[in-house]
Amino acid sequence: MVVKRARMLRTYESLQLERELKRAMERKEFRLYYQPKLDLVTGKIIGVEALIRWDHPEKGLVPPLEFIPLAEETGFIIELGEWVLTTACLQNKAWQEAGYLPLLMSVNLSARQLYQPNFVQRVNQILNETKHAPECLIFEITEGIMLDAFHAPRVIKELKSIGVQISLDDFGTGFNSLQYLHELPIDKIKIDQSFIRNCTSDLNDATIVKSVIELAHQLKMGVIAEGIETKEQLNYLQQNLCNIGQGYLFSKPLPPKELVKNFNQIEQVMIRDGVPPERNYQIRIKESMENNRQEMLNRVKMQQGLFFKFKKMEGKFIHTLCDGKLLYRMGLTPNQVIGKELSDFLPLSFAEDLDRYYRKAWDGEEDVTYEKEINGIYYITSLSPIRRGGFVTEVIGASINITKLKQAEEALKVSESKYRIITENTQDLIRVINLNNRIEYASPSHETVLGYPPEVYQGHLIFEMMHPDDVVRVKNQYADMALSRNPMQTEFRLKYANGGWVDLEIKATPVFHNDKIKQFVIVARDITKRKQAEELIRKSEKLSVVGQLASSIAHEIRNPLTTIKGFVQLLQKEVDLPVYFDTMFSEIKRLEEIIQEFLSLAKPNVCKIKEISLNILLKQVLSLFESQSIMNDIQITKEFDLNLPLIQCDGNQMKQVFIQILQNAVEAMPNGGTIKVQMSGHGTDFVKIRFNDEGSGISKERMRKIGEPFYSTKEKGTGMGLMISYKIVKDHGGWIEMDSSINHGTTVEVILPIKNSNSGIRMDESKNLLLGKKDDTIEKITDARYLVK
Ligand code: C2E
Ligand code: MG
Ligand code: MG
Repeated sequence: MVVKRARMLRTYESLQLERELKRAMERKEFRLYYQPKLDLVTGKIIGVEALIRWDHPEKGLVPPLEFIPLAEETGFIIELGEWVLTTACLQNKAWQEAGYLPLLMSVNLSARQLYQPNFVQRVNQILNETKHAPECLIFEITEGIMLDAFHAPRVIKELKSIGVQISLDDFGTGFNSLQYLHELPIDKIKIDQSFIRNCTSDLNDATIVKSVIELAHQLKMGVIAEGIETKEQLNYLQQNLCNIGQGYLFSKPLPPKELVKNFNQIEQVMIRDGVPPERNYQIRIKESMENNRQEMLNRVKMQQGLFFKFKKMEGKFIHTLCDGKLLYRMGLTPNQVIGKELSDFLPLSFAEDLDRYYRKAWDGEEDVTYEKEINGIYYITSLSPIRRGGFVTEVIGASINITKLKQAEEALKVSESKYRIITENTQDLIRVINLNNRIEYASPSHETVLGYPPEVYQGHLIFEMMHPDDVVRVKNQYADMALSRNPMQTEFRLKYANGGWVDLEIKATPVFHNDKIKQFVIVARDITKRKQAEELIRKSEKLSVVGQLASSIAHEIRNPLTTIKGFVQLLQKEVDLPVYFDTMFSEIKRLEEIIQEFLSLAKPNVCKIKEISLNILLKQVLSLFESQSIMNDIQITKEFDLNLPLIQCDGNQMKQVFIQILQNAVEAMPNGGTIKVQMSGHGTDFVKIRFNDEGSGISKERMRKIGEPFYSTKEKGTGMGLMISYKIVKDHGGWIEMDSSINHGTTVEVILPIKNSNSGIRMDESKNLLLGKKDDTIEKITDARYLVK
């Protein structure tokens, strides 16, 4: 219609009008009238639309449609438009300053204005000049503006960027409306008055109005109805959730002064003709609930989930809705569920199980959730009761698929169990410590290493069973670790179940979660044996030093002894007392023998396997004990099988073994007694040397430990002697057997092969053992105990 008229005017008449418009501007004949817009929920005036009039000296008020099209055609609209914008902004500002609540000012824009160069800058300038907030300005544009699909959208976006709102005027009369709605940043849709006019009489128009409102809400836009003239139209719009209304029912466009005067009267219309506020709110709440539900449904659908509702009907929970991809995955369809109760489409036991949760939600419990599996699909469901008037009227359920999550969890469990196997079976102590230094986890190895089951440690402070001398130092080290966030290594002692301390070497590592220390993991290793081995090295070094010293002393003694022997021989010729001299000589000889023995024992421990007569060797050893046994009132008896063959062995080492055994026997008999030494064949390939004493004996418990390093039945012993003896005998291919009972004495049997099948290398190891030079010392030493039967 507008276009037709414009064409018609391109005549003489139009030239005349053009001249008149310019003159009207000079003579200030244009007026702005304002028509109020009301919030259809609160009933309050929230804004006005500025509508231009020409106060013609002869024709009176000329309506815009009679001059706007021409102004657009001639370009005068640009000047006119700037005047409208400036006047509207100034007016709005003036109202605000007069104390009225801030109103939204709507100003109509022509297409021509939008194409004006620097239009947006000009708008900005006017807003600045009039000090009008951009947020309170709404430009009403018509769909016709969109004909240029390139320029207009750009300008509209620019306008949005300075904060001005955009409303699409006369919606429904133009073309392509829907397309633009998606592409442009439009805040409000204004339904054209032609639809409003018949919305209560024409079903088509009613449907259009309703649909446009719904569409606007879907697109999160406000919706305005213009041209509301009747109460029925107003009510229809309110029922259908239209946000804002404008029309003669409230007020015609009025000059500013008159409008202000009528404010109260205008708002009274809403009270008189509008839907009662309570009812109105209900409508809105219903709407928002519906929206939420819709949103939830969409979301569940998007997540490939499942959405359902149920109600209690005649004592049964009947599903009133059910949809979503997950449902199909479970092998079900909406038809199988809707109108049915659980037991209609699920196995009875499963239905009964779910029924429990349904009942809880129906009884009003919020956040009822459950995790289940149907046909290999794992899902989690949450139920929320919906109340009306304080009663639960239905329950909404939403499920999501967690099958993938479950699978990941399963995979995690497998890898976790791998770690658990390591943790549960290692000999190292593994502990998890919380930030308060309490033990959260203690590995089963605690029982073997410390003697207490792991439960004893759980929840206790790590310092509780620590050696008091270590506590302060370790506390500081822990504090340092928490500060530096770096792993640390240290050593401390923990109490062993039946007394004593276990030396531990520990490595503590902080465990982080989101860059914060959450726990510490401690791996501790029992280094008691290593410590003892270190001690052994120390001791054996001492022994070898003492040995060296002893051999040099032996040399020192031998020299003066030679001198003494020489002089005694000389003296023998002068003094005739043969009995004395015989005694002296035999004593000197004995001294020499002892020293000789000493020197040969102390010689560097190079293994020398030779054919040796055990008979001779044992006699030499026994001679060393002669005086000691007399002093202790001990008798040593010999029972040797003289037909035994020579055996292959290292004589010095064997002597060491026998000396050790005899020494132990002598020390075990402080009140005297008999030591029987027997030697006999043992099968065809072995000989057996048996030492039997009548000493204090060794308990069964101690017997088991003999041969382990540092196990000594003697108060000051290191236990090394017997351990080395075991080792030597083993290296010769033999073994030692022991039997003892308390107060009845001990029997030690050394069984040696006649032919030594072991290589010299093995023999060298026993030397290394003594010197403690090898890392695997501990292994070697502990081997010895297996020889004890
Ligand atoms: P519009 O922007 O759609 O304005 C609404 C028109 O409907 C106005 O006519 C208004 O008076 C009228 N109206 C409002 N309520 C009712 C109602 O209940 N019943 C009826 N029958 N009509 C109602 P108006 O003032 O004659 O303006 C006509 C058109 O002229 C406007 O349509 C707008 O497109 C244009 N216009 C008005 N002022 C300006 C302006 O400053 N600049 C530009 N570019 N165009 C303007
Ligand atoms: Mg308008
Ligand atoms: Mg309109």
